[in-house]
Amino acid sequence: MFWFSYYILFYFYTAGHLTRQKEKNMNRKLRLPAFVFLLTFSLLAIVQIKLDRPMILAERFFEGAGWIEIVFISLYGAIVAYKMQDPANVPQWRKVTWTIFSVIFFSQLIVGLSGFEKFLMSGKLHLPIPMMILGGPVYRGQLSVMTILFLSTVILTGPAWCSHLCYFGAFDNIASSGKTSRDVLKYKTAIKSTILIIVIGMALILRWINVPLLIATYIAAAFGLMGIGIMILISRKRKKMFHCVMYCPVGTIVNITKSVNPFRMYIDTSCTLCMLCTKYCKYDALDTADIKNGKPSITCTLCGDCLAGCHHNSIKYKFLALEPAKARFLYLLLTISLHASCIALARI
Ligand code: SF4
Ligand code: SF4
Repeated sequence: MFWFSYYILFYFYTAGHLTRQKEKNMNRKLRLPAFVFLLTFSLLAIVQIKLDRPMILAERFFEGAGWIEIVFISLYGAIVAYKMQDPANVPQWRKVTWTIFSVIFFSQLIVGLSGFEKFLMSGKLHLPIPMMILGGPVYRGQLSVMTILFLSTVILTGPAWCSHLCYFGAFDNIASSGKTSRDVLKYKTAIKSTILIIVIGMALILRWINVPLLIATYIAAAFGLMGIGIMILISRKRKKMFHCVMYCPVGTIVNITKSVNPFRMYIDTSCTLCMLCTKYCKYDALDTADIKNGKPSITCTLCGDCLAGCHHNSIKYKFLALEPAKARFLYLLLTISLHASCIALARI
């Protein structure tokens, strides 16, 4: 009898303890999604309330429907956050969500151009290639809304533009699907810098010699088509984002300017130099020298894919004096909320 009572007591104690533990874990897992929901909702609510022209798409069709869209998009952000807080899920979920982002962006553009103008943001059309974020303002001599938006994302989340927010980079991500090789992309800095200088130089020359907008647009379109060719021919074969790492001038601007934001990534002393993480980095930022150096190279976009490859938990996010888990929490909170908000707002 004694042993039976003891057993019952012990059972309830451990069951209660386990339930409390489970509850604690569940609460911890719901914290990031809840924050993402609130931040996304707040950002979109400000747009919905403050701007005279309806910016949330549903609001353009039925008065008040914008709020329903805001709730759905905030829920989407919360689900993405729930999944991506587990580093093992990041490569797959980043790919899916980034693709969704691009599909929505280009679908709205196509529908908008087919005569349903409500699907366009301002109606001021420009070529939907990232190069225009840089080349456009240099050619016109004035900043565009897109350029200001782009720079704001760099200030808020560093290089996350090139891993979660760019409507074009998602295609390079798909093209390079699969585990990457350990081949290093040679002459990276020289090639990137040369392309950047050529693009800025070309835009300046076109401006100085008064080349008409239509011709300048054709030149930009040729640049964009060449980029798609690079994705199909090189990124697909090398399993690295060759277009984004080597060719896109905006990617190079991101690499140069990202340090205005304090988020960083580092490899701590628990690293065993097993090199497994290199196979997860499509941005060619983790070769042997980078790993020995304790941090990814300049092309790192803080995408977080490599965390899934490191069995020793040696790759960490850093944000000022925050401990790594909190730095990652903050990074995911900002990046996913921005990603979800841009799904609602990023239109041409
Ligand atoms: S490198 Fe260029 S195309 Fe690639 S994600 Fe960045 S801006 Fe977009
Ligand atoms: S080093 Fe890691 S976080 Fe940086 S780009 Fe490569 S996979 Fe992404």
